[in-house]
Amino acid sequence: MKFFTNYGILEGMASSPQLQDRPRVLVVGGGYVGLYVALKLQKKIANAGGIVTVVDPLPYMTYQPFLPEVAGGNIEARHAVVSHRKHLKQTELIQGRVTSIDHANRTAVVAPADGGANFEVPYFDVVVAAGAITRTFPIKGLADKGIGLKTIEEAVALRNGVLERIETGSLMTDPVERARALTFVVVGGGFAGIECITEMEDLARAAVKNNPRVKQEEVRFVLVEAMGRIMPEVTESQAQWVVEHLRSRGIEVLLNTSLDNAEGSLKLINLPDKTPAQEFESDTLVWTAGVQANPMIRSTDFPLEPRGRVRVLPDLRIAGDEGIIDNAWAAGDIAAVPDLTGNGLPDGTCVPNAQHALRQAKRLAKNLWASRWDKPLTDYKHKNLGAVAGFGEWKGVANLKVVGRIGLKGPLAWLAHRGYHGLAMPTVERKLRVIFGWILSFFVGRDTTQLMDLDNPRGAFVAAATPAPKPAAAPAAPPADASAGKPAAEAGKPANKEAVSAESK
Ligand SMILES: Cc1cc2nc3c(=O)[nH]c(=O)nc-3n(C[C@H](O)[C@H](O)[C@H](O)COP(=O)(O)OP(=O)(O)OC[C@H]3O[C@@H](n4cnc5c(N)ncnc54)[C@H](O)[C@@H]3O)c2cc1C
Repeated sequence: MKFFTNYGILEGMASSPQLQDRPRVLVVGGGYVGLYVALKLQKKIANAGGIVTVVDPLPYMTYQPFLPEVAGGNIEARHAVVSHRKHLKQTELIQGRVTSIDHANRTAVVAPADGGANFEVPYFDVVVAAGAITRTFPIKGLADKGIGLKTIEEAVALRNGVLERIETGSLMTDPVERARALTFVVVGGGFAGIECITEMEDLARAAVKNNPRVKQEEVRFVLVEAMGRIMPEVTESQAQWVVEHLRSRGIEVLLNTSLDNAEGSLKLINLPDKTPAQEFESDTLVWTAGVQANPMIRSTDFPLEPRGRVRVLPDLRIAGDEGIIDNAWAAGDIAAVPDLTGNGLPDGTCVPNAQHALRQAKRLAKNLWASRWDKPLTDYKHKNLGAVAGFGEWKGVANLKVVGRIGLKGPLAWLAHRGYHGLAMPTVERKLRVIFGWILSFFVGRDTTQLMDLDNPRGAFVAAATPAPKPAAAPAAPPADASAGKPAAEAGKPANKEAVSAESK
């Protein structure tokens, strides 16, 4: 076995004293790919005298396909994430962000999540699995007003935001303010956008039922999509059915339309001629119009392709024009993995989705281990199983490619969506939490309780712990004369200074 024979080159590097002094397989990112690579390798590498190290700013893997259901209040937020500590017991965990990789010297620089000083982490192998981030365009006001749907925190904020806006809006008397509060906009008609707007609409409908001060007709949902169709993952006729389904729920679907400006009111334009379209106000602007490879990859010495992803061979080793780069691997949304089935993106690479990420992670772990024993590596090849999407309770669409092609709509598709994702959720413990949560909701209904002050949880305590201003000095006792026993005002004198100033305002 040639495991870690080159480890000597790492001696003398500056690194954190807390790090284990063992040959390291460094996994950058503990999302879908990172979690599964670590799960598959941690024991083998430990038994061989090494250590798998996962670096991620988050202490958990996020099951992103559940984010819309978290935003819709159908899944408890904690159940949609998988704790690294609980499930990666033989893995060294570092909560931080890899800011750069110098593969020539086998080191990565980590910025710890607590904001402390950066430190170097030496490694023998590196697995790049930092995923993708939301892709935006330079639209004025978008950064100030918008929110994405890539993290569990965003999903929680959306759920609370919808409930809060409906509650607050229901008290508003100014029609303009009320309409703004009750208007919800999603930009991007891909899977994430459609699932997001439908789950939010479902939640809003449930909240409105509980609130006699607001009518369903007052709540406005708008989907903005730049292309002439939505959901490229399903057939044209299914996509059309989805548009009709959304419209039947009162969701406005604006195709060939783009957001041009978000300063003040939202200004939309028609595409491709860029003529002005609608303009209206909204407090809720969700941006789900695409993702891009995590830009951290630009701070490495790895070869990139035009879309900014790291170049890999079908066996998931990183390779550039100069050939294969030893001990460097990548998979998932950050990597341009060739799709050997020929059904991928127009450039011949795999579509960035969880279906591929999971299987690439398993293949990568096997190949990395095989490379240690000079065994042949196997190329990644996976035939797409299709797509399932949930649109709120009992509603959905599915395009299954298991035995031939099966198209489903409505409750059956929704059951397929829940069945597939319930089983695909990593770890048995998490599957059980999600599935039992669904069963519970079936009997007791959706929970539409809004959690307050999540962004300022100390507010009440700070107010309670801050000394109240001292009361103004008591007025001097009136002389014991004829006015004694009468109220001050009656005696022609003010009761105290505050009373005077309050009255005169
Ligand atoms: C709303 C939504 C719905 C989706 N629905 C589906 C679906 O129904 N079906 C499907 O197949 N796919 C779906 N996807 C796509 C799927 O979730 C992704 O393709 C998949 O998660 C990619 O896995 P990954 O490991 O490459 O990246 P991720 O799972 O995103 O993991 C990347 C990890 O890297 C970490 N990280 C980021 N920067 C750094 C850094 N500098 N250093 C260290 N760590 C870093 C992140 O914190 C994260 O944990 C959906 C995505 C979204 C956003």
